[in-house]
Amino acid sequence: MLALTQEMAGTPVPERIKHAERMWKRHTVRRDVYQPVREALEDMAPGWDCCMYCGDHLADTVDHFVPKSRCALRTFYWPNLLLACSTCNTRYKGDEHENDGLLGSLLIDPTREDPFDHLDLRLASGVYRVVEGSRKGQWTINVCGLNEGKRPRVRADAWLNLTDDLKDWDRARAEGDHKNMRRKVYRMRNQPFADVCYAALRKAAADDAHLNFADEVPGVLALLRDEELREALQA
Ligand SMILES: [Zn+2]
Repeated sequence: MLALTQEMAGTPVPERIKHAERMWKRHTVRRDVYQPVREALEDMAPGWDCCMYCGDHLADTVDHFVPKSRCALRTFYWPNLLLACSTCNTRYKGDEHENDGLLGSLLIDPTREDPFDHLDLRLASGVYRVVEGSRKGQWTINVCGLNEGKRPRVRADAWLNLTDDLKDWDRARAEGDHKNMRRKVYRMRNQPFADVCYAALRKAAADDAHLNFADEVPGVLALLRDEELREALQA
C-alpha cells in the first residue's frame, strides 16, 4: 500500500482524486490489496463481519473513513479503511465528511475513539441519543443513519436476546454446565449489533447504573456486573 500511496503522491494534485478512483478499481488492486484488506478487517470485526458503522453483520465492502474524494492520499492508508455494509457505504455515509477545526473529523472514528463517549444507546428502544453537547455524536447519528428504518427495533431485539442469554448463562453456571455457559457466551459475542452488548456492559459499570436498569428484569444488572461474565464477554 505504501507503493500505491507513493504513486498517488507523485500524481499532480488536480488529478489525484480521479486517479485514486481509477486505482481503487484496478484489477490488480482489487486482487492484491482490496481482498486482503477486506479479509483482515473481517477478522478484526466483532461477530460475523459486523459493519464498523452500524454493527449489522455480513458487511461486504471496504469503506474509506475519509472519502477518496476528500483526501486521495488516504486511499491506500490502512487506518483509513473500515469494513462497512453496502447500506452504510452507499445509502448513508457515502462521501459525507466534515471537519471541525478543533475536533478534527466530526464522524466518530471507531478505530481511535470510544463511540460511547459521544453516543448513548437506550437499550429498551434501541435508539441512539447524543451525549450532551457532543457535535460528533449528532453528526455520526445523522450521517450513519443510526436511528433510521428498522435499526432501533433490531437493536431492541438484540437487547432482549442478550437479557435471555444472560439469564440462561447464569442458570447454566448454577448447574455447573460449563458447555452451555460457553455456548451462551459464544451467542452473546457473535450476535450482530455488538454495540448493544458493549453499551450494556459500559452502562452497568457506571455509578448510576441502577437508574438505567430500573425497568429491567431483576438480576440483569448484577449479571452485567459479574466479573466472570464480563471477562468472558470482553476477552
Ligand atoms: Zn452498516
